[in-house]
Amino acid sequence: MKTIDEVLTLEVTNTRKRCPIGEKVGGRNLEEKKIPVLSCEGACIRGEIARLAANIVAKEEPYRRACHGELLSVPQSAMTEWVKKAEKTVLIDGCFLRCQGRILENLLGKENLVQFDALSIYKKYTDRFDIESVPEEERKQTAQLVADRVLTALKEDSDVAGKPSVPSSPTLVPVPDK
Ligand code: SF4
Repeated sequence: MKTIDEVLTLEVTNTRKRCPIGEKVGGRNLEEKKIPVLSCEGACIRGEIARLAANIVAKEEPYRRACHGELLSVPQSAMTEWVKKAEKTVLIDGCFLRCQGRILENLLGKENLVQFDALSIYKKYTDRFDIESVPEEERKQTAQLVADRVLTALKEDSDVAGKPSVPSSPTLVPVPDK
């Protein structure tokens, strides 16, 4: 990895392979103009809460779950084409480090991202790493809380067509307390 001022660059080995179901889902979501939802996919409890919350949000219209692995490393995939052509992408990062946001704001453009920091919503588990350190039912409840706040914020930030509008600034979208 190279460091140039405040920008990190890394090389990714390309592939000619395609994921069959990723092609199908990416192509369908592109055609139906769905809004991609991504999370940081971090391995700790914060990443898990963000991942679960992204899954919940993506069940609602007009949102669908996107694959960050394909987006970042299979540039010719239908999944990548869908996300890059989407009107907007929703991103739920696990914490203030914004690991996915700091990548995607360069790949997709800040103006095309609606970003959330999940930890700032539930404010717990900061002394824990393992996913299993929080019981499964509590993980689900916390993820639901995050998803509900994200969906409320997206609804308040929507235009009449029900799609997220361009945020006035590229910073994290504030979520309502309730
Ligand atoms: S944003 Fe936080 S939870 Fe997500 S990968 Fe980065 S450090 Fe982990």
